[in-house]
Amino acid sequence: MAEPGPPGGEAAVPYLPVVVIVGRPNVGKSTLFNRLAGRRHALVADTPGVTRDRKDAVAMLRGRKVRLIDTAGLEEAAPESLYGRMRASSEMAVAHADLVLFCIDARSGITPADQHFANWLRRQGRPVLLIANKTEGRAGAAAAMEAYSLGLGSPLSISAEHGEGIADLMGEIADRVPPEVVPDVVEDLPEPQDGDEDYEVPPRPPGPLKLAIIGRPNAGKSTLLNRLLGEERMITGPEAGLTRDSVAVRFADEVGPIELVDTPGMRKKARVDLPLEKMSVSASIEALKMAEIVVLTLDATLGVHEQDLQIARLIEREGRGCVLALNKWDAVEDREVTRKAIADRIEFSLSQMRGIPVVTFSALTGAGIKRLLPTIRAAHEIWNKRVPTGELNRWFESALERHTPPLVEGRRLKLRYITQAKARPPTFIIFGTRAEMLPEDYQRYLVNGLRERFKMPGTPIRLQLRGTK
Ligand code: GDP
Ligand code: GDP
Repeated sequence: MAEPGPPGGEAAVPYLPVVVIVGRPNVGKSTLFNRLAGRRHALVADTPGVTRDRKDAVAMLRGRKVRLIDTAGLEEAAPESLYGRMRASSEMAVAHADLVLFCIDARSGITPADQHFANWLRRQGRPVLLIANKTEGRAGAAAAMEAYSLGLGSPLSISAEHGEGIADLMGEIADRVPPEVVPDVVEDLPEPQDGDEDYEVPPRPPGPLKLAIIGRPNAGKSTLLNRLLGEERMITGPEAGLTRDSVAVRFADEVGPIELVDTPGMRKKARVDLPLEKMSVSASIEALKMAEIVVLTLDATLGVHEQDLQIARLIEREGRGCVLALNKWDAVEDREVTRKAIADRIEFSLSQMRGIPVVTFSALTGAGIKRLLPTIRAAHEIWNKRVPTGELNRWFESALERHTPPLVEGRRLKLRYITQAKARPPTFIIFGTRAEMLPEDYQRYLVNGLRERFKMPGTPIRLQLRGTK
């Protein structure tokens, strides 16, 4: 696999599952890295701008391409305690890892440093594979047993230097890295193309949930923001955000941190005199780009305005999760009628997002506001949802049986397989002979079925069709 050497790290080797090797110094991380990467085949390159000593390679393990990162050598860089140095060197890499290989030296037994590292690692919430190295010739069996006590599952015994257990290890890694992009049980599938976004393996978000509160002027966005910050613990004050035009505010609920992507119009009232259309939508686009979940906020006493629909369509087009917030509920007279009228109207223009969650509240009095954050969390979970390929195809088969795909130009389409290419939002690929000709109403039937069967209301679901020859 002679990959051309990319000039930079992240951007040049996109979409690969990230496998990170960690452990205290001298356990054999570099040896393992070289063993897995294969000196001859792999592209071993420093990653400029990340950390000087980090080694970074593209490795092919059992037919699965991964990005392999070795954290060895970083320990020397930071002038702190051993624990501090180990952490500093691994923190960033682990935060972006799809799989962490945690190495211990079975010859020296479990040390306090291993123990400390394991404790820290368990709290990071990443999948970990525990590796007992230096076990050639059955050495270190005792330590391998002892390694169970680290609470990271059963250790895999290998010898990086002598190449023992490496084939098994490669298989374990290949089995654990997400996702099944092109399943090997199906023949003749098209290869993912370079830059083919559909095959993206998204980095798992280590950071806060990114939230935008969007709506027309006077819907009550600022009042809502203040309410949220007042009721929840504020972590940091307003700080410079990613772009000049936006400001990030962080707070937390019991699940974790939330970052509010704020548009300047929300706090400064200066923009209110701009023409409505212009102000609201341009500010919304900015915030949308950075948000995962959008709270589309309406003044419920005014019903739905064309601009609200415009924003709604934007949310759908950008593939964001959405929560519909009906504010000023204290001032609404006929609540049942109002709720239904507004929700129906919004949902009608969000045809790809059926079942959007609706929360009614008063930002002013705080009534009903408690339901907002849990609803946002639930929407975020759905937006991040991954459905296992097996379950997906069991459903697919029965869906095809219930309604046979239509004839197109007098011939049957042969749909063979479905797989989830990515989440955020959930995106599925259907493979089959002339699959690309599948009519839209049948696609809608499948999307609705997916939504129902796998409980994904209110999130955009993307379907892609790949014809096989
Ligand atoms: P790192 O600091 O964790 O990257 O560790 P290295 O890869 O530099 O290895 C530290 C030492 O352990 C070196 O002297 C290696 O030759 C040795 N080593 C690595 N793997 C094995 C192994 O499987 N068995 C034995 N006996 N020694 C090993
Ligand atoms: P923004 O332009 O979307 O940020 O809206 P503001 O938060 O500035 O609110 C606009 C006006 O609506 C202010 O006069 C608020 O006091 C009022 N308002 C906000 N929330 C509520 C609410 O829940 N009920 C009522 N009755 N008024 C509200």
